Amino acid sequence: MANPSTFSVLNRAKQLETLQSTTYDLAIIGGGITGAGIALDAASRGMTVCLVEKHDFASGTSNKSTKLIHGGLRYLKQFEIGLVHESGTERAIVHKLAPHLVVPEKMLLPLIKGGTYGKLLTSIGLKIYDYLADVSKSDKRVMLDKTETLKKEPLLDDSKVLGGGLYAEYRTDDARLTIEILKTAASFGANLINYCDVQSFNYNQNHKIKSLNCIDHNTENTLVIKAKHFISATGPWVDTLRNKDHSLTQKHLHITKGVHIVFPWEKLPIKQSVYFDVPDGRMVFAIPRGRITYVGTTDTNYSGNLNRVVATKQDVEYLINAVNNTFNQLNLTLSDVESSWAGLRPLIHEDGKAPSELSRKDELFISESGLISIAGGKLTGYRKMAQRAIKAVLKQMDDEEKSNLKKSKTTQIPLVNPSFKDENEVSQFQNQLKEELKAMGVTDAYYAPYLCATYGKMADSIILKSASFENTDSLTRLIRAELWYSIHHEMVNSLSDFFVRRTGRLFFDIASVKTYSELILKDMAEYLGWDSSRISTEKNNLNILILDATTFYDSEFM
Ligand code: FAD
Repeated sequence: MANPSTFSVLNRAKQLETLQSTTYDLAIIGGGITGAGIALDAASRGMTVCLVEKHDFASGTSNKSTKLIHGGLRYLKQFEIGLVHESGTERAIVHKLAPHLVVPEKMLLPLIKGGTYGKLLTSIGLKIYDYLADVSKSDKRVMLDKTETLKKEPLLDDSKVLGGGLYAEYRTDDARLTIEILKTAASFGANLINYCDVQSFNYNQNHKIKSLNCIDHNTENTLVIKAKHFISATGPWVDTLRNKDHSLTQKHLHITKGVHIVFPWEKLPIKQSVYFDVPDGRMVFAIPRGRITYVGTTDTNYSGNLNRVVATKQDVEYLINAVNNTFNQLNLTLSDVESSWAGLRPLIHEDGKAPSELSRKDELFISESGLISIAGGKLTGYRKMAQRAIKAVLKQMDDEEKSNLKKSKTTQIPLVNPSFKDENEVSQFQNQLKEELKAMGVTDAYYAPYLCATYGKMADSIILKSASFENTDSLTRLIRAELWYSIHHEMVNSLSDFFVRRTGRLFFDIASVKTYSELILKDMAEYLGWDSSRISTEKNNLNILILDATTFYDSEFM
């Protein structure tokens, strides 16, 4: 445990060396959930694989979703039967692979006077949803009358509620899921590097891509990465890469923005997750989680800066109105919002369609140069998307290249090591953590589920390590041990990697970012030998992220 794993920033220099001296079977550009899923599928089949990410892993859309592993009930309304079936059945698989991180969450769909769905339509719709997702008997939808619905969620408007439907979904942390998939890919030998930006392509005489010109943002050194096949899993940047490859043809992305806002739980104290109607005909989620409740999402066309996506005042007011309309006793205002995140959906353009009507299906674009680009899709379907992308790679391979490759077996590869057998083992482990935390003086009920969902069984080692930090209180020792773990095993390379993508604190526990950022910065500087200039850059970068999560701008950054 004390030694850094291959997926450690302490091994970064070695990783960079290997990247430059190897010709890989497959080079993947983009370290969101799509790239991560492809890396795992390819490496576990036996390919030599590298993945380069220009910022941090999961710093794009894969950290800005609603954080649900779901079938997408609303796609049923659009008759996207295939999509609902695929994501519905994938939910159960991803839950089995990471039961500590993909946790069942019952969703309440209240039926409201004048709402989108009537009682009969909801009942039939949810039944079809269950059927397509092949849910187990205990998870099948239950229709509730008005009294039962209000008992489930007393904050709903008594004068409007007619009844409700209760159905099964799963909640996750999108960035953690991405990181766990990458760690697993690394255990199969994949070389994965963050802060390494693909600038351009080099071609052979047949105009096929032969290598990538990259910049390592830690040093601003350039490097060339050679491979036989190339996939761009760059989400909202897919067209930017296709442009560099001169292969941006008629089919192109249609980018829409989705915002979530975060309230302290006491301000929006719902008992359970709710999927509710908004007056304009859309639907929005409200999801309680630890110290907070988050609400989202919006869905609007976007043409601003891809690298700095923020919530505008208009986005936030839309969501606040939606909440106040449904939970009518609350009267929440802008000042009640403690944090927010805004992400971009890399959808495929369809003429004449509004943002909410665009399909969420994924699509492959294969250029003359051999570049395979994959866009669209959902977090939930990452495994299947990876299989489709690898199928395209296999089509490019000759018989010799394919001869030693195995079939995809990602339904059998747990996404956390040591793995959990099932939910029961997760809850036993959580109880054990509670006792261990109590013994070190931490009685706040937040920490056992937080540590379990974030680090799985490695939470034990973190607690153990925390004892080695002297002269501080238990919570300080704990966060320092979390940093120690992410430095050694999770490729954390900047202050914001830790507070945003590894621990989710910027969104779910923003007060702790302000309390501990100086201390964590000091520890990181020591681990990584940062000079004063790097220290001030790190401080600035984190401050910008805090600013963006807590400010509601008049317009987008361009
Ligand atoms: P990204 O996560 O954006 O990854 C692309 C990566 O490529 C980025 O990290 C970027 O830095 C990198 N990159 C770009 N250019 C370069 C370059 N030149 N060199 C190196 N790297 C580069 N799906 C669900 O299943 N459930 C949900 O609840 C859900 N909710 C959503 C809510 C919102 C508001 C949004 C926007 C999406 C939601 N989705 C959901 C969809 C899901 O989040 C996305 O489909 C998924 O995260 C896309 O992942 P990706 O890896 O394709 O893209």
